[in-house]
Amino acid sequence: MIGLTILGATGTIGVNTLDVVARHPDRYRVVALTANSDHGRMAELCAKWQPEYAVMADVDSAGQLREALKSRAPAVQVLAGEAALAEVACLPQVDYVMAAIVGAAGLLPTLAAARAGKRVLLANKEALVMSGGLFMDAVHECNAELLPIDSEHNAVFQCLPPDHQRRGLAAAGVERVLLTASGGPFRETPLDELAQVTPDQACAHPNWVMGRKISVDSATMMNKGLEVIEACWLFDTTPAHIQVVLHPQSVVHSLVQYCDGSVLAELGHPDMRTPIAHALAWPERVSAGVEVLDLFAVARLDFQPPDMTRFPCLHLAAQAMHTGGTATAVLNAANEVAVAEFLAGRIRFTDIPRVVEATLANESVQPATSLEIVLAADTSARNTARVFIREQAA
Ligand code: NAD
Ligand code: MG
Repeated sequence: MIGLTILGATGTIGVNTLDVVARHPDRYRVVALTANSDHGRMAELCAKWQPEYAVMADVDSAGQLREALKSRAPAVQVLAGEAALAEVACLPQVDYVMAAIVGAAGLLPTLAAARAGKRVLLANKEALVMSGGLFMDAVHECNAELLPIDSEHNAVFQCLPPDHQRRGLAAAGVERVLLTASGGPFRETPLDELAQVTPDQACAHPNWVMGRKISVDSATMMNKGLEVIEACWLFDTTPAHIQVVLHPQSVVHSLVQYCDGSVLAELGHPDMRTPIAHALAWPERVSAGVEVLDLFAVARLDFQPPDMTRFPCLHLAAQAMHTGGTATAVLNAANEVAVAEFLAGRIRFTDIPRVVEATLANESVQPATSLEIVLAADTSARNTARVFIREQAA
């Protein structure tokens, strides 16, 4: 039996992971579940899964969960706080860790899992964006296994030869990685209407059901910008070797172009249970409960280059990756602040790239040589972004 910790169990990825795990009770055992503050949802999950540990990042919520579990699941040990998230990612009885906390909050427990040499199923792309160099070093030094959950990166992984990590992409004959993007809900919205769009409109993704932060990132295409950075670290490549391709149907999840003219792609329904099942079972395959892809129903596939005027976040992300060091942590932090402010109704959708650009322009960049430096860059960028927003509002 494979012992599993799910970081971010109450989220979209967490719930989809449990859906796949439920189909294979003979293979996987849930050791620990974690969440931020949704103790009601967590109580339901604990009653169903009876894990050894349940962690709430928020201390008050942990108290409420403890109370709720007294009758429903008394054997579950409830822990609280950030350190406990990392603790349950490193338990000896845990083999695989699903890293599905959203945002910078996921960095420390995800890194802890890598340092403990676990198989890390990585959904939390922000961890790689913030500190890709440190993270990949930890993976290699501690013999961890890193399997991408992000559908695009999982697709690329599936289209690469099994030894690509050892040989590198160039030696494997890879010329380019083609990352597909739906373009989100505002792909065709007139540009002068973008300033008025609401959080609910931004979260109504045409093809995928996702948490609110990543949904807004998809609408600005910052998500694809973060994914270019993620791909650079995962596959040891550069933005020059990555092409973003708008593909509104989200059926082709990404492609790899080889020097002999072959282009390999992974296709399927836009359902996160496919990459989750792939990474859980790799190198084997297990059923995921995903509907069969009916090519006759799909009928056509469209591809376009992205419009950089409509999606300035794509350029900002590529620029930050080019600058290197702590610039990508600054980009991520500013974006998290801007998205939270937009979701709270305090800034406009079109302010998001402005906040990110202004923060990048105002923060000094350093080599990202330690976790302390990365976390300090994150804190400083959040302050700068908040000051910029306050000054603009004044
Ligand atoms: P979500 O908002 O649905 O869930 C987030 C989870 O993280 C919840 O369990 C929440 O309790 C937990 N969390 C939030 N803040 C926390 C904090 N401060 N401390 C501890 N836990 C905290 O998000 P999601 O859509 O499941 O996305 C999770 C991650 O996966 C993100 O990094 C996202 O970019 C990535 N991802 C998601 C999808 C998708 O289809 N949903 C696809 C690719 C990648
Ligand atoms: Mg993705």
